[in-house]
Amino acid sequence: MIQLKGIYKWVENKSARTFILKDVNLSVKEGEFISIMGPSGSGKSTLLNLIGMLDVFDEGAYSFNGQPVHELKEKQRTNLYKQHIGFIFQAYHLIDELTVYENIETPLLYQDVKPSERKARVADMLDRFQIVGKKDLFPEQLSGGQQQLVGIARALVARPQLLLADEPTGNLNSKQGEEIMQLFKQLNQEEGITIIQVTHSEKNAGYGSRIIHLLDGRIEKKD
Ligand code: ADP
Ligand code: ADP
Repeated sequence: MIQLKGIYKWVENKSARTFILKDVNLSVKEGEFISIMGPSGSGKSTLLNLIGMLDVFDEGAYSFNGQPVHELKEKQRTNLYKQHIGFIFQAYHLIDELTVYENIETPLLYQDVKPSERKARVADMLDRFQIVGKKDLFPEQLSGGQQQLVGIARALVARPQLLLADEPTGNLNSKQGEEIMQLFKQLNQEEGITIIQVTHSEKNAGYGSRIIHLLDGRIEKKD
């Protein structure tokens, strides 16, 4: 599903070039559940954002479902991302001015989904995450755990093939965090959704089927 070959990303200031990612090579097969670990500043978020097409790189090749992402125009890349990828953030990134219902509905507005189908899909999500009673509330009226459930519902409503999550439990207590990890496991094992998460927690990383360690922008080799 994903192939990264010789990916470099850097920032230039004056004459110096600082590398954020260095020669990253990674293949991800459909159905995998991968955890990315590494110290703060090692490039985890940058790598996840690249995979999610939210950020670009300076050198290398990225193929997603056989399509060369590095060769696509921005609009094509955006379409590809919106069709296939759901993104979950540590700080939820919900839209403050929209209700729970409207936040979850957002990704469907970018797709060719009929209003009746949109309604049914959002209702499904509200039901699944037991937040039907919260549908007309605004994000600030919810607890952190509830906001993250809305974030997850929004990421899943368009039925993505790939779910990307950057420290999804970072702002949650341990019980809420564990529930989210159980949910990820279920999504991966029962619904076949491919998942890549960034985490600082060994325990959370253990829910996945493979762990990738980043250090100074490089994937560490295991022997
Ligand atoms: P983490 O992934 O460690 O939880 P972040 O991804 O928010 O944290 O940021 C990691 C580091 O990268 C921080 O020191 C932050 O200041 C820095 N950083 C993130 N984005 C940018 C940016 N666009 N420009 C400069 N520095 C950034
Ligand atoms: P992590 O998620 O592992 O904490 P990040 O991917 O956020 O790491 O950042 C990796 C490094 O790249 C950090 O040193 C950060 O400060 C730097 N960085 C990230 N984005 C930018 C940016 N847009 N401009 C300058 N530096 C950045």
